[in-house]
Amino acid sequence: TQPLLQVEDLKTYYPIKGGVLKRTKSHVKAVNEVSLEIYEGETLGVVGESGCGKSTLGRTILGLESKSGGSIQFKGNDIGSLTERQLKKYKKDMQMIFQDPFASLNPRQKIGKALEEVFVIHTTMSKKERKQRVLELLSEVGLNKEHYDRYPHEFSGGQRQRIGIARAMALNPSLVVCDEAVSALDVSVQAQIIKLLKELQAKHQLTYVFISHDLGVVRHISDRVLVMYLGTTVELGTTEQIFKNPQHPYTKALLSSIPRPIPGRKRERIKLEGDLPSASNYPTGCPFHTRCPVATEACREAKPEWREVEEGHYVACHLV
Ligand code: SF4
Ligand code: MG
Repeated sequence: TQPLLQVEDLKTYYPIKGGVLKRTKSHVKAVNEVSLEIYEGETLGVVGESGCGKSTLGRTILGLESKSGGSIQFKGNDIGSLTERQLKKYKKDMQMIFQDPFASLNPRQKIGKALEEVFVIHTTMSKKERKQRVLELLSEVGLNKEHYDRYPHEFSGGQRQRIGIARAMALNPSLVVCDEAVSALDVSVQAQIIKLLKELQAKHQLTYVFISHDLGVVRHISDRVLVMYLGTTVELGTTEQIFKNPQHPYTKALLSSIPRPIPGRKRERIKLEGDLPSASNYPTGCPFHTRCPVATEACREAKPEWREVEEGHYVACHLV
């Protein structure tokens, strides 16, 4: 089957300004040579430490950051070659759910009106139609017409995220990038929001990219999992492959830090030495070699290839 989204050799670099680097052309490689496919109806979890590029990857896919290289194909179209009008349509088809959905809301505007603004901007709906659609959306996310006239501060954390979801769903997107969407919530509320996301996915054939530092949540919601380190992809596989049979030393170290052990997997603690190198001072060879417990000479020199080690399971490591 043709993927919904195909990313090839994607690069998102930021120039570094000022300091001793002023004269040299230096960059932070936030996303570096990423290739992957996302299939319709799946949830792709994206994990890695903060600063690994997972948010930038999500934002670049959505066109919120401009790419420095590579290509993004969505529904078979190269988005680099779209016209302004097509690009607008494409952006409506992809939405994002943030950790704090209210950060961008006006505290003095009622929620119903705030949600209606999406339709004012993007559609030709009448006032009556807009209100009708917002009431539908509220009920879809487990809220009701009482909430239409409330102000942002009157909502609890979980309700706020429901509003964020309603806003993301308003224009019937195909792809939704959830960036730490449940990370700020209590565990019981997290479970409710995840349940809602799954219901909406089934109902509307949604595809999710679920970015989170919380491996337990990712394991619960994802069909496949992508592990990132310093802007690159180090491992990709089904949730089962990644959690039961991790191959990359970095994935193994990440998993060993989960408080609750994974059933059927022997527990081994792997402590990573050293800090995450900065993406501006990019290591040569394997990007993980400065912290890898099993690195060899060769790791310093050559960047490992992205290879398929079993069906659908990809790893970038010389030793695998
Ligand atoms: Fe470690 Fe070398 Fe594999 Fe990189 S290529 S993860 S440094 S063993
Ligand atoms: Mg982030």
